[in-house]
Amino acid sequence: MNDKTGGEKTVKKRLLLLLICMLFLLSGYTAEAAKNEEKTTYLFAMDTTMTIRVFGGDDALMQSLQKRVNEIENQVSVTREYSDIYRLNHEGNVAAGPDTETILNRALNICEETEGALDVSIYPVVREWGFTTGEYRVPSPEKLEELLASVDYKKVEPSEDGYHIPDGMAVDLGSVTKGYTGDVLAGMIRSAGVKSAIMDLGGNIHTVGKKQNGAFWRVAFRSPEGTGLVVVLEVADEAVITSGGYERFFEDEDGNVWWHIIDPKTGYPAKNGVISMTIVGKEGIRCDALSTALFVMGPEKAAEFWRTHGDFEMIMITEEGELFITPSLNKRFTPDAMMPYHVTVLS
Ligand code: ADP
Ligand code: MG
Repeated sequence: MNDKTGGEKTVKKRLLLLLICMLFLLSGYTAEAAKNEEKTTYLFAMDTTMTIRVFGGDDALMQSLQKRVNEIENQVSVTREYSDIYRLNHEGNVAAGPDTETILNRALNICEETEGALDVSIYPVVREWGFTTGEYRVPSPEKLEELLASVDYKKVEPSEDGYHIPDGMAVDLGSVTKGYTGDVLAGMIRSAGVKSAIMDLGGNIHTVGKKQNGAFWRVAFRSPEGTGLVVVLEVADEAVITSGGYERFFEDEDGNVWWHIIDPKTGYPAKNGVISMTIVGKEGIRCDALSTALFVMGPEKAAEFWRTHGDFEMIMITEEGELFITPSLNKRFTPDAMMPYHVTVLS
């Protein structure tokens, strides 16, 4: 009896040991599997669709990324009545939150650096053209002149506890906020110890590290004409941000095409020869700001800006069918065989 019980005990002990071993192995195995697992979050924010693909993060990280996007949007939205920017535009003063402050300061620097090709106070003009609502119209020259009188980023001033703008002025950070958001999310992903992630924030691509197999991310994009042709770029730990005339536009009764990137000097959509401007670099907010600003500048000034600054790479497609690319990006660039553009490497 005792023996039998003793024997049973031993068997049970062994089984238990085996079970513990298996659980241990299994948990080791699942932990290893989870490390490499892809988690994807899709969301609609900042008036666009976003996809965040993280390799080796957990659900808590994914939730915190999504929460952070909403937090940024709530601070800088031009339409949400409680946002810093809404209050600045309606009250002339605001004690801005940390994201608004960072974005606005960085954007104002680049407005200065690009001599007003980027101007965060262009909003009333953008609205007059109907780009904020989709009710498009060509404003009268008089109306544009009147609105341009209050476009001047230099008048956005620090006040005692925040910012101040004059009556009639309105600020919009839409040209840089997605780029900033990419930087913030990439930082959170890195801090969580994740080595590999790729995000598409409304067409802006942000990458963390390389692919899990150690290869570069291959970022493909379509031609401005939407003919389906692709160009592939190899990137790692960078943002790839494009401003294109083809993204949001309308055609008037006379067949003129007008798009959503405005030349702050004229109040008209920027038609200085560029149809697509892609900036590649480490800092998303700078890439986003420069994609808009260099689009406005036109090919010669944009190339000159790159020569004097050089802290970013670019691909610029002109109305004449030329594609200009910076030398080191050219080494990571594979054009489709059918690509219609004549390629010139900048120097
Ligand atoms: P998107 O936001 O469509 O990806 P951009 O980053 O180029 O493209 O930003 C364009 C938006 O920025 C426009 O919709 C408009 O609200 C605003 N904008 C247009 N022209 C300018 C400009 N010269 N400076 C600053 N903001 C601009
Ligand atoms: Mg931009």
